[in-house]
Amino acid sequence: MTDSFGLSGAAKAQLFARLSARQPGPHVEALPEPKAPLGSSEVTGDIRMVQRIGEALGITNPYFRVQEGIPGARSTIDGRVYDNFVSYNYLGLNGDPRVAAAAKDAIDRYGTSVSASRIVSGERAIHHDLEAALAAIYRTEDALTLVSGHATNVTVIGHLVGRGDLILHDSLSHNSIVQGALTSGAQRIAFPHNDMDELDRLLSQARGGAARALIVVEGHYSMDGDVPDLGRLVTIARRHRAHIMVDEAHSLGVLGQKGHGIFEQARVDPADIDIWMGTLSKTLSGCGGYIAASRELIDYLRYSAPGFVYSVGLPPPVAVAALASLDVMAAEPERVAKLQANGARFLAAARALGLDTGPSIGSAIVPIMTGSSIVAARAADALFQKGVNVQPIIYPAVPEQGARLRFFMSSLHEAEQLERVAALVAETIADLRDMPVDLADLASRLAAR
Ligand code: PMP
Repeated sequence: MTDSFGLSGAAKAQLFARLSARQPGPHVEALPEPKAPLGSSEVTGDIRMVQRIGEALGITNPYFRVQEGIPGARSTIDGRVYDNFVSYNYLGLNGDPRVAAAAKDAIDRYGTSVSASRIVSGERAIHHDLEAALAAIYRTEDALTLVSGHATNVTVIGHLVGRGDLILHDSLSHNSIVQGALTSGAQRIAFPHNDMDELDRLLSQARGGAARALIVVEGHYSMDGDVPDLGRLVTIARRHRAHIMVDEAHSLGVLGQKGHGIFEQARVDPADIDIWMGTLSKTLSGCGGYIAASRELIDYLRYSAPGFVYSVGLPPPVAVAALASLDVMAAEPERVAKLQANGARFLAAARALGLDTGPSIGSAIVPIMTGSSIVAARAADALFQKGVNVQPIIYPAVPEQGARLRFFMSSLHEAEQLERVAALVAETIADLRDMPVDLADLASRLAAR
């Protein structure tokens, strides 16, 4: 029997008991050992060291650059126009006049904030419209949106599993997945990237001791631009009675003919995945995260996930921008095709020039491996001087040999631009290889500071 809240009497009583339970007073534990004061140089030392290396090499800081206007195929920084490869504007919907008009209209109707958690007074019809549209993509019974993609993984993973359970996640998982696993208190195992044989073996070893098992993968990996073997994963998970959660942050709008993501591309029934997760901040030109799953699971999260219950609902312009983006994506599948063609073109051009694109499938994310953090940082800096904005990914974000330039594609890029930039990258990296860094000189310059 369920009442008007969609919960059984017992579940409702439990919910109210939990919500009204007193928070324990501040509890101060003795620190195991003295630690450096917050914000002191002992704490911030590693960051400063990277900055000093950059300065010693004459590299301008590539972080926190202020973009002017709306970043698309090009973006403006300090009045100069750059070829832009650092934004997740995959389908060019951020700044689309229809999306912007819908968001402006939402502000006029609902204001800029819902001013409360949805469970109390923050609920609006637009939340339901967006969640229904997301559930329709994954053909799930329901969906739920939260105000941050990162917080979605932390709170949902952290809440659904706990001590006595087992989480296996890909070793290249996004930080939010790792944080969620740590928060949960479950046993956590990172399996080698995309290695389904090893996942199978690890499950055989560890599954027996765990009450429940959750496997978390991404539909499209944001560092390497490759994808998991989803069909194989489903078979393995079934054999070990494990649940599957797939983070589609970089797959929605990107993979599959309609842009519905990895299940569409891999021809897997979306019902074979227990929990679909994604973000509103990329293809959907908003901000926030979502979960699509069974009604029961979504209801459980809706009434009890801390990051949802104790956090504000999506702001109206953001919810409506995401919904309008889904509408445009459905009406104009040629955007998805263009993004995919752009990724394939850039990958092919880079490879033809002898560049190492790692395991990228040539979709929205194409890394160019440099094999060294210093080469990656110097190449990004030199390219910036030449009018190309691309982010270097350096140690410790990736292992030193995995340092790279990471290119994000958009449906807005043009073929000429992609061919020209690939040639510039090849030329820039070749020039740098002829100018090796003198490490002894670098060390003495650092010591002199
Ligand atoms: N999951 C993945 C795979 C991501 O790459 C990101 C961020 N890029 C997130 C979750 C977090 O999303 P958001 O930035 O929207 O909070």
